[in-house]
Amino acid sequence: MPLKTKEEYIESLRRLKKKVYLFGKEIENYVDHPIIRPSINACAMTYELALQPEYEELLTAVSNLTGEKINRFTHLHQSTDDLIKKVKMQRLLGQKTGCCFQRCVGFDGFNAVDSVTFEMDRDLGTEYNKRFRNYLKYVQENDLVVDGAMTDTKGDRKLAPSEQKDPDQFVHIVEKKQDGIVVRGAKAHQTGAINSHEILVMPTQTMREADKDYAVSFAIPADADGIIYIYGRQSCDTRRFEEGDIDVGNAMYGGQEALIVFNDVFVPWERVFMCGEYQYSGALVERFAGYHRQSYGGCKSGVGDVLIGAAQAIAKIQGIEKASHVKDKLIEMTHMNETIYACGIACSAEGRPTDSGTYLIDLMLANVCKLHVTQLPYLIARLAQDIAGGLVVTLPSEQDFKNPEVGKYLEKYFKSVNIYSTEDRCRIQRLIENLTLGMGAVGYLTESLHGAGSPQAQKIMIGRLANFERKAELAEELAGIKRI
Ligand code: SF4
Ligand code: FE
Repeated sequence: MPLKTKEEYIESLRRLKKKVYLFGKEIENYVDHPIIRPSINACAMTYELALQPEYEELLTAVSNLTGEKINRFTHLHQSTDDLIKKVKMQRLLGQKTGCCFQRCVGFDGFNAVDSVTFEMDRDLGTEYNKRFRNYLKYVQENDLVVDGAMTDTKGDRKLAPSEQKDPDQFVHIVEKKQDGIVVRGAKAHQTGAINSHEILVMPTQTMREADKDYAVSFAIPADADGIIYIYGRQSCDTRRFEEGDIDVGNAMYGGQEALIVFNDVFVPWERVFMCGEYQYSGALVERFAGYHRQSYGGCKSGVGDVLIGAAQAIAKIQGIEKASHVKDKLIEMTHMNETIYACGIACSAEGRPTDSGTYLIDLMLANVCKLHVTQLPYLIARLAQDIAGGLVVTLPSEQDFKNPEVGKYLEKYFKSVNIYSTEDRCRIQRLIENLTLGMGAVGYLTESLHGAGSPQAQKIMIGRLANFERKAELAEELAGIKRI
């Protein structure tokens, strides 16, 4: 059965020889590094839950390629039911980790690459889909984490890839050989890259003919020669070096982003899925972005559940849970959180099969989902801080609580409702700080804004799909206007 345990997943990462840099140094053992390990733990949850009978239906699927039971994160959606289960699975994982668990980007990449390569083969007589499906079978059989790498560094945003002063600002083909291609460039903000076994590269935007060397999609092992990872630091990350676990807020789990540098990396032909067919780059970007905008309806509502729960907990610990304005704020937070989730479910329920048989979400509703996600978590976070009070930013450190001179004063003056300890109060305050200002805010807030495309990208898609003329016709007909 191709399902790994979480321990097997973590051990499998140790076998990869990756070049990882953090704080100016190459990290020998990144698996046990205090800043990196929580992100591995979060990704490992996708393995742990898949083996628990109560979550089997959400976390696993039957592969349409092999007929085997596989982890859902490696599946091609075969129905709207698959699309809905994906969102439910992501909400569950957000609830269990309180952060980004990273495995969705490759998952969304698989589904986008599958339908687009199918259409390329049909129209052009290429064999990209056959190659891709062979590759995906390998991923499914080995239960791998694959980083879906789309975002290029982009240089001067006014200029197309081929117009840039530095041609490496977008990942591109530098050489075509008999046995494969050589690529160069970098992908930025790569979620879970260091925790992945493989990298699936896709173009970052619609390419034109002049940019066809930039219309490239391929997969490579994450420790292939020429790849370097530079870890993206997060707000308050060095707290993970401190003694104790209270001040980090979420000691066990965290997200991860890195810059991946491709220094003349060789990719064999059997792992190349687009090589210059610029006319298909737009569809690939649009579908990948659509799937990832759906994803946020699941993962962000799951983390939202944790933040709403933390707000309810701190209200009880501080004795304000019966105040009507607090109840009203919790209801408002829930209303916004469920709005995000509802959009994720709606775009899934309205999904349709593509020509390859793989189901695609409704793109309009997925974009509406993500546009809500760029706003509502910030409003939910504001209400959580409102309920928590100023302590969320003024609480002394865990070390001060342990200090023999002043610890007793902190215990005394920060005691609130009797049945809770002062430590309970600190732990919840720190969790709210983590999710709204610290490491957790990377995933819950800024990633909600920019991940899967910044708000303007969703507005462009919504504008394109809205069909304002059709709406005008409806109005004109009712108003009795006759078009000439
Ligand atoms: Fe998955 Fe959400 Fe993280 Fe994207 S932000 S990888 S959808 S958990
Ligand atoms: Fe993301």
